[in-house]
Amino acid sequence: MNYRISIGLEVHVQLQTRSKMFCGCAVAFGAAPNTHVCPVCLGYPGAMPAMNREAVVLTVRTGLMIGSTISTYSKFDRKSYFYPDMPKNYQITQYDRPLCENGTVVADGGDGAKTVRIRRIHLEEDVAKNTHFAQASGVDFNRAGVPLMEIVTQPDMTSPEDAFHFLLALKQILQYADVSGCNLEEGNIRCDVNCSVRPEGQEELGTKTELKNLNTFKGVLHALKYESERQMEVLRTGGRVAQETRRWDADAGETYSMRSKEDAHDYRYFPEPDLMPVVLTEGEVDAWRAALPEMPGDRRTRLVRDHGIPEYDAGVLVADKALADYFEAAAKLAQNAKAVSNWMMTEMLRLLGETERDIRTVPITPAALASLVKLVDARTLNSNTAKEIFAELFATGGDPDAMVKQRGLAQVSDRGAIGALVDAAMAENPGPVADFRGGKVAAAKFLVGQVMKKSKGKADPQLVAKLLEEKLAGGGM
Ligand code: ZN
Ligand code: MN
Repeated sequence: MNYRISIGLEVHVQLQTRSKMFCGCAVAFGAAPNTHVCPVCLGYPGAMPAMNREAVVLTVRTGLMIGSTISTYSKFDRKSYFYPDMPKNYQITQYDRPLCENGTVVADGGDGAKTVRIRRIHLEEDVAKNTHFAQASGVDFNRAGVPLMEIVTQPDMTSPEDAFHFLLALKQILQYADVSGCNLEEGNIRCDVNCSVRPEGQEELGTKTELKNLNTFKGVLHALKYESERQMEVLRTGGRVAQETRRWDADAGETYSMRSKEDAHDYRYFPEPDLMPVVLTEGEVDAWRAALPEMPGDRRTRLVRDHGIPEYDAGVLVADKALADYFEAAAKLAQNAKAVSNWMMTEMLRLLGETERDIRTVPITPAALASLVKLVDARTLNSNTAKEIFAELFATGGDPDAMVKQRGLAQVSDRGAIGALVDAAMAENPGPVADFRGGKVAAAKFLVGQVMKKSKGKADPQLVAKLLEEKLAGGGM
């Protein structure tokens, strides 16, 4: 029997506002625990929330990017639950009147583009972070009250890979819209995933399980692979899938049951009496729509058109907004977009991958890369030396012009000086010279290498090859 998988996601995204959702505390990742707190985000009785309007703007902008309908009237509600990360015993969220409804995200998977329908986007507050030690648990309220946007999809994904590609596409949109840092290590994006399987031919979806709080995209992929297989095995052996919340244990590589799933009525949602409804005018929404940033697809077309780089390169660059920003900054300064793109596609991506660094924090600046390109274009540097300098700039930063001057790295392209080195190499290697003249063309390569060595890598290799060819053909030494 074959089975079909259905996957839906609830993606929680921390918005990049300066202050929290309902108080004036700073949003600060990595600060000492409980240093950015106040009566509101600590949940003291009687403390009054006040809405952060910027969070509304960012949520609406996300909705506009994916073609949602924007509600000009929405409101906040209380979702009741009891847990140490939320001492007021309710989370302020949006229940029946979310800011955005519908919309689509197109994910580019291995087997073609896939459209995932979005059900809704609502705004809520993040909760405190629990840390479990050997003898006790700690609660850090710096995270409590950070603006959190929840994006809920329809169960349109039909494989774990679909979910993975959807998340990549969503992250790209969030970065282009400038709504979130999208830093997974800082927990900016966390996913709850629903998964069900059903026998092929059956219309109705199977019973779903939910996996909560997955904080890496690879984790989502692996957890869904395990969970969908587990459910198929249950059905294959005649069992029934229980509706429940399961936990993904990344170290063990398996999911296990946590608790049976609550229904909405268990949360006893009711309108938040301390906050006014959110009322937006059509004019405001239109103005935000008009100010939307360029989408990745449009940017790709523009990069090909304006910079003359290949479609493929443009696709790789725009996949990460920061990478494309870097490219455009360097290309403008270097006046040679193709060369900048080549550096980005080869050395830059290779070193970023090897060192797991972020383009936003690498020491090599766009200006430094532009200088390097100019030095190569002016034939002051040969490509080998340029590569070495690139690696050094990548690791520690610096100014290529100064490095070339200080170290005397400028390429030697003086015919007289190189000619003398060629003569010396030929004199020292009569064997290869005779080989070449006897028809072994490959021997010339060896001789070029010898001349480069003598110049300590600074000779212009094209000029070396040319002079060597002349001299070898000439017959004399
Ligand atoms: Zn606060
Ligand atoms: Mn939520």
